[in-house]
Amino acid sequence: MIVSKFGGTSVGSYEAMSRSANIIADNPQRNWVVISATSGTTNELLRMCSLPLNMDEGDGLLEQISRRHLDIASQCSFKKEATKAVEECMCNLLAHLSKQQTSNKQSETEWIDNLLAFGENLSTQLFAWVLREKNLDVQLEWAGDFICTDSRFGSAEVDLEATFAKLWHFLSSNEGFRSDHKPGKVLLTQGFIGADVEGRTTTLGRGGSDYSAALFAEALGAECLEIWTDVAGIYTTDPRVVPTAHAIDEISFDEAAELSTFGGKVLHPATMKLVRRANIPVRVASSMEPELSGTKIVTGPLNRPVVRTLSVRQEQTLMTLHSLEMLHQPGFLAKVFSILSEHRISVDLVTTSEVSVSLTLDTAHKASNKVELSEAVLRALNDFCDVEVEYNLALVAVIGNAMNQTSGISGQLFSTLKDYNIRLVCHGASANNVCFLVQESDAEAVVQTLHQSFIG
Ligand code: ASP
Ligand code: MG
Repeated sequence: MIVSKFGGTSVGSYEAMSRSANIIADNPQRNWVVISATSGTTNELLRMCSLPLNMDEGDGLLEQISRRHLDIASQCSFKKEATKAVEECMCNLLAHLSKQQTSNKQSETEWIDNLLAFGENLSTQLFAWVLREKNLDVQLEWAGDFICTDSRFGSAEVDLEATFAKLWHFLSSNEGFRSDHKPGKVLLTQGFIGADVEGRTTTLGRGGSDYSAALFAEALGAECLEIWTDVAGIYTTDPRVVPTAHAIDEISFDEAAELSTFGGKVLHPATMKLVRRANIPVRVASSMEPELSGTKIVTGPLNRPVVRTLSVRQEQTLMTLHSLEMLHQPGFLAKVFSILSEHRISVDLVTTSEVSVSLTLDTAHKASNKVELSEAVLRALNDFCDVEVEYNLALVAVIGNAMNQTSGISGQLFSTLKDYNIRLVCHGASANNVCFLVQESDAEAVVQTLHQSFIG
């Protein structure tokens, strides 16, 4: 069995759905299918929850969601059935929206998860009809009936044991989905959605469909997990920055995991953890160009270059703390980290010398750099050391193999970059990466230079 996940852009229009459905019809082994909401929908639903939102804007968003799905329905051969499904869903969505004003029995976060689930509900209802159009025998199942979670609405934690037990039970009573299954039979379900012990709908956090798909793949013992997206695999670097960047044929779990933590928006780090544990090869491919083979993530790729891929994370903040107290004194770093932890600041890279320590903070997700490094944190640190903060830096990660055992790699790297000011270097903590900071304005040129000399 192959578990295939189609992301928002792969189901974002009738053409996209039809292309994705053809991919499924093409290989009868792809009989467990997980999809996201159509692209844009989750963002629009979230926007509807965020205040202040005026009535007109809310109506406009609803109209957009409704139009997107009705438009797909109108092009489907099962137009009548698909339209009815969308209309019913939209009706329930409206009823749910009006409930917020009238009842406060449901907690806000629970209400939001219920609202977001309409995105996945709409896309799966429609996609089921598009699959039927291709003569596939579709069984649509609600993901909340499989994925058991705790009640942390918005980023629920999955109860693996309970989830696996449900899936195994389902398989044992649905022979059609086993390895000896009936060709043409497809199980379709939502990504991102779960349910708590009381059966209340939860969501797994943004981008959680990959994680759902990996869970299904592990529980079902799939021979491969396919992630269908709008790019033809994992690239040697962002092709918008380096036009000669190309899709990688094979990459190891370790390298891909490293890449996902350095912001190479391929797969969520939690997803990588699951597939690596279960040793399930992953294929990342484009539903727009399914004939290209995409990238395979496997345990032992045939080729293991020292430098495989380059990634960049913008909006990094560098904080440098100096103190003579640090010289042969125990507890200095512990003090620094406990202050940062009290203020819920997460540190990415750290380097230390005798009397100073430099740390990087990822401020990309914050509206303003200043929010994270509040006056209070700076004051607390200033009490026992000098603090210097630099904004607008970029973190460049060079990802590959045996980097901590390859002699000369850092010499080669930094001589290539002799014209740039490198702010902080982390080398040796991981076999799979060397990373450093540069000015944000230099980041593109640095990546172009590195790509040309190491990857070509
Ligand atoms: N639809 C959800 C989101 O946009 C889940 C996903 O696409 O993975 O975050
Ligand atoms: Mg998505």
